[in-house]
Amino acid sequence: MSLKNLPEDISSITLPEAEGIVAYFSMEIALASGIPTYSGGLGVLAGDTLRSAADLGLPLSAFTLLHRKGYFRQHLDASGVQTEEDQPWEVEKFLDLEDPLVEITLEGRAVQIRAWRYDLEGVSGHVVPVYLLDTDVEGNDPRDRTITDHLYGGDSDYRLRQEAVLGLGGVRILQALESSVHVYHINEGHAALLTVGLMAGQLGGDLDRVPEERDRQAVRRRCVFTTHTPVPAGHDRFSSEQMERILGRRTAILAERMGGCRSGMLNMTELALGSSRFVNGVAMQHGKISQEMFRDYHVDSITNGVHAATWMAPPMQAVADRNFSRWRIDNMQLRSLIGVPCEEITRAHNDSKERLIQEVAARSGVGLRKEVFTIGFARRAATYKRADLLFSDPARLARCAADAGGLQILYAGKAHPRDLPAKDMIHRIYEIAAEIRSDSLKIVYLENYDWELGATLTSGVDLWLNTPERPHEASGTSGMKAALNGVPSLSVLDGWWVEGCIEGFTGWEIPDKDTREEEAAGLYEQLESKILPLYYGRPQEWQKVMRWAAALNGSFFNTHRMLQQYISDAYSPEKSINVSAAALESVLVR
Ligand SMILES: *Cc1c(COP(=O)(O)O)cnc(C)c1O
Repeated sequence: MSLKNLPEDISSITLPEAEGIVAYFSMEIALASGIPTYSGGLGVLAGDTLRSAADLGLPLSAFTLLHRKGYFRQHLDASGVQTEEDQPWEVEKFLDLEDPLVEITLEGRAVQIRAWRYDLEGVSGHVVPVYLLDTDVEGNDPRDRTITDHLYGGDSDYRLRQEAVLGLGGVRILQALESSVHVYHINEGHAALLTVGLMAGQLGGDLDRVPEERDRQAVRRRCVFTTHTPVPAGHDRFSSEQMERILGRRTAILAERMGGCRSGMLNMTELALGSSRFVNGVAMQHGKISQEMFRDYHVDSITNGVHAATWMAPPMQAVADRNFSRWRIDNMQLRSLIGVPCEEITRAHNDSKERLIQEVAARSGVGLRKEVFTIGFARRAATYKRADLLFSDPARLARCAADAGGLQILYAGKAHPRDLPAKDMIHRIYEIAAEIRSDSLKIVYLENYDWELGATLTSGVDLWLNTPERPHEASGTSGMKAALNGVPSLSVLDGWWVEGCIEGFTGWEIPDKDTREEEAAGLYEQLESKILPLYYGRPQEWQKVMRWAAALNGSFFNTHRMLQQYISDAYSPEKSINVSAAALESVLVR
């Protein structure tokens, strides 16, 4: 079988003279802790990728939406009921308005789009510009001025409008900025409509012309697609009625001709798959699962990472600065932490733990003790992440805490406003926690999980817990942040942990079982028989685990390594050898 996204003909090779830039498209990007334009792992990954691109000097620019009202601020009442509030932020304080004003048509109305620029500066001064698209432009219909307000807000129509602004609008802004683009990186299906924008350019604006294989190849040669969702239900789909009404009939037909429709629905993943020459999942196992889901295409994998200098707490950064000269550019130097005395890492971790304890006291009024073993669990409160697995047998957990000599458990995480089961899960955690709290077992659920709280938690706890339902976790990245800070994980073997877990060295696995009860039993078993006895009984051995976690996993699961793989496996010119300079020019929308 010939796979659709591999170049069929490599005989007529003309290498482009100069390498153009990479244009990176993502619905969410975590740019800075004061800019709430992200909801979770996808946005943090995008931001970390760009921070690494800046450090490594990669000619890359990025496109996302402005999200003027942010994602949302989470409030939890005394019984764990979540309410939400907008998070407006001062756009002008952080960003510069760019000149270009471009237009797309949505629901028959002209929608003007402008862009704000945020410059991400790397360690050596290289700048990665990020363009945040904005439809709150005078002259736009009031209905259209709010398209770029809420990340993942509104209904499915709202989502399609946003994706049109990102994909179609982003390509037009790029053209107006006169950037010469070598690779378009579609970070998750939300940005897939950019391929339709490129095809429109390839057809010279004649949307009625049926794309030939040659046209499809021209678009495919420019696009790289990273999928992040291991379950079919997670992929964005829109009805043909929506597609025609919102995008217009000719654009809808073009998307269909490009192979973007499945069972009468516009499927953003299909559209991106059919229009990209390189497709990857975000961890080895996720790549394999995606390959089984999309048998018509070759799906590779590049395992995620995190930006080391962003997620290592200051005391841990000081350890690295003392011992290594170039780790901020060359994260592989962190592998040599294996030769650094354990006490240095332990001392850094103690400082971070103290900071965490202060932060918990300030936020919740609860006083934690620094000699007590502390578990962290913080991530989006999606039900597949099973934040409540640890509470499957509350009596056993309470016993385990009492026998060991104390246990502190910290939770955080937002449920999407419309995800009622996830909201229930938070409420349930509150209820059980209230029942089993004791002198030896402290449990705190911290409100409004975000970047800053994430950094404080992953660096300050003693163990990072992850209990997703296999195989729903495409990668997961918070455990990588913990590792960089010398914090081992206890996790289901899903996502990155399949590659990161060396049992007893970098952390521990929760064995895969048929039922939830059995998995919970495995979790308790690991805590009771291995982890707590090691922490309380053999502190020097525990310190070695911390050092292994940092040296082995910190040096690999970072975005410097990840981006270098994207460069060599996905972006490099050899991967697009079928491209002529003229073809490069012609794919931009006219
Ligand atoms: C790192 C991070 C995530 C991703 O966590 P996962 O373990 O991958 O689910 C989500 N939200 C915030 C605020 C983060 O910092």
